[in-house]
This record gives sequence, structure tokens and C-alpha cells, in this order.
Amino acid sequence: MYWERDSETMPRDRLEELQLTRLRETIERASKAPFYEKAGLRDYSISSVSDITKLPFTTKQDLRDAYPYGMISVPLEEVVRLHSSSGTTGIPTVVYHSRGDIQRWTELVCRCLFMIGVRKHDVFQNMIGYGLFTGGLGLHYGAERLGCLTIPTGPGNTKRQLKFMKDFKATVIHVIPSYALHLADTLESMGIVPKDEFPNLRSAILGAEPHTEETREKIENFFGIQAFNSYGLSEMNGPGVAFECPEKNGMHIWEDAFLVEILDPDTLKPVGTGEHGELVITTLSREAMPILRYRTKDLTSIIEDPCPCGRSHRKIVRITGRSDDMMILKGVNIFPMQIEAVLNGMKHVGRNYQIILESRGHNDHMIVKVEVDSSLSIEDYKALESLRANIVRELRDEILISPEVVLCEPGGIPVAQGKAVRVLDNRSI
Ligand code: ADP
Ligand code: ZN
Repeated sequence: MYWERDSETMPRDRLEELQLTRLRETIERASKAPFYEKAGLRDYSISSVSDITKLPFTTKQDLRDAYPYGMISVPLEEVVRLHSSSGTTGIPTVVYHSRGDIQRWTELVCRCLFMIGVRKHDVFQNMIGYGLFTGGLGLHYGAERLGCLTIPTGPGNTKRQLKFMKDFKATVIHVIPSYALHLADTLESMGIVPKDEFPNLRSAILGAEPHTEETREKIENFFGIQAFNSYGLSEMNGPGVAFECPEKNGMHIWEDAFLVEILDPDTLKPVGTGEHGELVITTLSREAMPILRYRTKDLTSIIEDPCPCGRSHRKIVRITGRSDDMMILKGVNIFPMQIEAVLNGMKHVGRNYQIILESRGHNDHMIVKVEVDSSLSIEDYKALESLRANIVRELRDEILISPEVVLCEPGGIPVAQGKAVRVLDNRSI
């Protein structure tokens, strides 16, 4: 049931002791990196994990400024791999790994996969990007280590993707949620029933981008499978940071590898127990590039209650988005996930949408492009007009402004190769 029983079920007091030891080691190691050397890290005295608050933060900008080698804390000959973030929010940042780092990352991924029942007899199709992006190789190493037949299809090439799933009888897929919805659209347009085509398919691992509970359910219902949320970021290895257990109620974050804080993004002070805030992570077992108090910008909260699965590592709730995903329109703060949640709850709405922001005169203008599903004829103008008006009303109730809603046919919105581009901000500054 557990990949590493002792580590995964370690009593909290022992886990905290281990965190303290590893935190001290991490500070020691980090102080060798040019970036932290400047911060004079050696002077910090740490007598408990809560002393973490004495340490400085590290931001994405710091990592960019330290490009290319400013964050390295071991001699270059000990570094065996370099990865990079997807660059969703600007210039990408790079992360280096020693051989030991890759091994430890792989073990964390194994914990996640084993937790949801993946075993060596499984056929694992990895539909997430390989290369600099961490999603592909991260899960790949874990699945191979478990002994799965691992198929590195990567993203895109939907027809071949579906053919491989069928021919090799994939049992588990790793997929970006927006791409899973695109697969569903494609299958539907081909008149293929997933349960007939892929009778062995059991689970999907959904990662790399925010998605709502309803999106998960859509994917589960369409394919007739279980879907599990997987969270990670390249600065913290990539996938394998936090992952849902079969309880599907929050993601266990591996606290022997990551020290977690939830802070108010404005004051940078800890939020109250269970409250929402920015996830700040310190690596506890990385050699080549330890990172202290990394401001992920991801918004979540910690579930303190013990999990019935027996793992002692706490869970974080589904990430609702990054603080910098927030759009400010006419003084109102809006997150793309609020829009997704509204659209998901509506009949005749298809599987893809996009938000476009424009300047009209001195005002901001929001256009929400929404695909309709195949149950509605694109010639049925009356029905379309009533759907459009309904969407505007429902969105206004949620986000307090009335966007312009444009309906399009299924497949009318381009699907990205990697993470979905939910917001196009064309506003002049
Ligand atoms: P970039 O920051 O350039 O997108 P990464 O590829 O490292 O680079 O992406 C990590 C980010 O992706 C996370 O910080 C988070 O915002 C998002 N992310 C990853 N997995 C999930 C998930 N399961 N739910 C929500 N957001 C996620
Ligand atoms: Zn659990």
C-alpha cells in the first residue's frame, strides 16, 4: 500500500525532527551557492522548524537574476541534469540536479504512483511534455522505476496518442487536464465510446495546470476512470511535490522533502490554521540547488486533519490558481478558475474556453470565448442566443461584471501543446 512505509507514515514528531536536521543541512549547503552566499546565510541560528521565518525568501525573479549558475551549490561536475520552468509568466528559470537529486525525485514520484495503485504490470502512457519541461521526465523516471511499461508519447499528435492507448492497452495516463478534455472532444467527434475502446484504462493523473473539481469529474465520467490531481513546479523538482491519495480530498505534500508555509501574500505573515494563502516551500533534500522559502505564488491551504490513508504528511487543497493569474477588471479581482467553475456547471457548454482582455477606450473589456457541446446545433440561433445570455448572467453573478460572451463550435478554440492558455491579455499598458 505504501512505497516507503516508514517515511510516508512517520509520526509527526519524528517527521519534524527530521525536518529540522534537513533544514540545517539545507542552509549549510545553500550557503555555498553564490546567490545565498551574498545573503550571509551562515549567521542564522535555527533551533526549530518555526525558525524558518528568520530566513530570506527566494522569488522567481531571484532565480532569473541568478541565471545561469548563481544558484548552484555543488561543483559543476556533480550536476547531471538541468531543467527549466515552462515560462508561463516570463523568462524561464533553470534548475539543476545532482545524481542523488534525480534519485530522490524519482522515489517521491514512485510514492505518488504507488499511492494510487500503479504497479509494475501497468502500462503507463505519459502524454506530458519531455525535454526541459519537468512533467514528462519526472513521471517517466518514477514509472520506469516502478517497473511499468512506460510509453513516452509526450503531448499532441492526438490520433497517434489514441491509437497507442488502444493498441498497447494503456491502464494509466498522465495528462494535462485541458488536453484530456481535448481527447474527449476528439473521441466524441469520432463516435468512439471510451469504455469500448480502452477497456483497461483505469486512472488518469492530472497535472501541470489549475483545474476545478468539476473538470476532474467530467474527465472521470467521460472515460469511466479515476482521476488524481498532481501538483509540482520545476523549482521544486517538478511533479512529485504533492499528490492525491485514493481519498481524493487534498494532495499529500511530502514533508520530509519540502518544508511548507502558507503565508498571506501581502503581509508575508503566516495565515491562521487552515486558511488560504500563498504556498512557500523550502527544499529539504536537494543537493545541487537547495532553495529557501520559495514563493510559489500558488494559492492553497493546509488540511491539518489526519488522512484515513495513514500517511502522516499533511495535505494541501486543490490549487485555485496563482496570485498572478488574478485579473483586475474595473476594480474587481477575478480568477480564471471562477469562470471555469461557472461554465462547468452549465448545460450545452463544451469543454474548452478562453478569456481575452482588451482595452476599449479607457476601459478594460473581457471577452469569454466558449465552445458549445455537440448536443446543440450551430444553426439553432435561438437556442444559441439563449445559452449566450444565460452564460453572461451566470458569469455576472459570479464575477460581478458582464463579459462579452462569444460562442464557438466544439474544437473552435485552439488547443495548446502544453498548458492551456486560459487568458490572453491584449490590454495596452
Ligand atoms: P511555470 O511556472 O513557468 O508554469 P512550471 O512548469 O514549473 O513552470 O509549472 C509549475 C506551476 O504549474 C505551478 O507553480 C502551478 O502554478 C501550476 N501547477 C502545476 N500543477 C498544478 C496542479 N495540479 N493544479 C494547479 N496548478 C498546478
Ligand atoms: Zn491520504
